[in-house]
Parts: sequence; structure tokens; C-alpha cells
Amino acid sequence: MPEIPDLEAVRHYLMPRLAGLKVTHTDAPIPWLVRTGAEGLASLEGHGFGEIHRLGKFLLYFVDDGRLLVINPMLTGRFHWIEATAKKPGRLGVVIGFDDGHELRFSDMRRMGRWYLVPQDGLDAIPQWGKLGPDALAVSEEDFLARLKSRRGQIKATLVNQEFIAGIGNAYSDEILWEARLHPHRRRATMSEEDLRGPYRAMRAVLEESIAIVDATVQEEGLGKKEEWRQHLKVHRRGGDPCPRCGAPIKGQMRGDSETNYCVVCQPLFE
Ligand SMILES: [Zn+2]
Repeated sequence: MPEIPDLEAVRHYLMPRLAGLKVTHTDAPIPWLVRTGAEGLASLEGHGFGEIHRLGKFLLYFVDDGRLLVINPMLTGRFHWIEATAKKPGRLGVVIGFDDGHELRFSDMRRMGRWYLVPQDGLDAIPQWGKLGPDALAVSEEDFLARLKSRRGQIKATLVNQEFIAGIGNAYSDEILWEARLHPHRRRATMSEEDLRGPYRAMRAVLEESIAIVDATVQEEGLGKKEEWRQHLKVHRRGGDPCPRCGAPIKGQMRGDSETNYCVVCQPLFE
């Protein structure tokens, strides 16, 4: 699932490339991805895009007529920036063509991505939008601390809860907790004030470092080969590998189809 560094790289890659272009054609081979109605996509023709913002796992494309194109790629949504004549990818969901001969394509293996075309004051039409917490890159340390103090559950479950803060998922929660030396199942009640500040500082450090790495990778290889870039992660999906800090084997724990990874030595569970 794309998380903040992946979506920031998409945003940084596309914004200068879309500048000054006009939409010439649109298509929705998987029409239900466009939750506000695929037929409405054609109304983008003749228009262009300005800034691209992000809140949590949503990208917000500002249309020059005052509307917003809001996209949540969910598990497997992938953006492609490619010439219109290039071979189409599998599970192509939505296409927006531009007057310089490029297409912004969206493919989605699991077909769970969500697109919405709404007025700027119409974000409440997006399910759960009003419940989203502040973005993980925008929340202040004091706000983070206050929000965390009102949560009782396990720290990993809290970090990935989009109502707590928006943008952190399974992969980066593992990285953040490893950096903060906190066991993913630690509960709020067992954590000191310093323990509660640790994940905030680790979150900032991990996200900033990862954004720089993923940005550089995407600038070099372009958009379309992947929806998430994970080569730099230290513990997530590294079960059995040595912990980069202490050398003990990284533990992998499956719950449903998502894996939690941590180091039992660096991240002890105090209950
Ligand atoms: Zn370790």
C-alpha cells in the first residue's frame, strides 16, 4: 500500500510535468473506481491542473476550474506517466490524456482505488473524510502527544489508524517503531512521557529520510513500474534478516495478510 513517501514522490514528480498542460481525453476502463461517476471525467477535457496536495493517503489535484480530483490508491493503485502510444498496463483503471502526448494512467491490480471529482467545498462527499486525523507530516509534537494520550490501544494499531493521524500504514509503522525502539504491541498505559514522544521524533526522521530516497528513485526511474518503493526499509518485510542495530533476527508476525516486523531485542515488550 502506498504510504506518505510514495505519494510525496508521485506528487513531486507529476506537479512540474502537468504544469501548463491541457486535458485532451479521458477514459475509465474500470469505471467504478471513479466514485463520483466516471462520466464526469470527460468534464476535465480542456482543463489543466495546478498544485497537487496530499492529506494522508489521498492526493488532491487542483483543477483550474476550482474543482478537486481526489485519489486514494488504496492497496495497489499505481500512477503511470507515459506517452499515449506506449503499451497499456494490466488492470488499467483510469486514463487522463494531455496535449503534449502524455497520459496519466492509473492501474490497480486489486481494483480498490478510489477517485472523486468534487468542488473544493465538497470534500465531505468523500466517505470518512471528515474523520481523518491531521497529516503525519503536518501534526505538531504537542498535538501528537495529546492525541496519543487519549488512545488506549497498542501503539502500532494507533499509528496506522487514519483517525489518529493520516498517512502511516503497515510498512512505515514498523520502521517508526523500530527507530523508536518500541514493541508494536506496547500499550499507552505502559509508556512513559519520553516513550510517547519517541514515536513522533522517529516518525519525522523516518519519513523525511524516506521521502528523500523515494523522491530520488522516482525522478530517476519515472512513474509506472511500482506503486511503492521499499528497498530502503530496515525491518518491514525483512523477517529473518539481522537487525541493522543489534544483529538479532528480525521477527515476522502475520495477522491476516499483513505482516508486522520488529526486533525482539531492540523492541522489548514491557507489560
Ligand atoms: Zn535489534
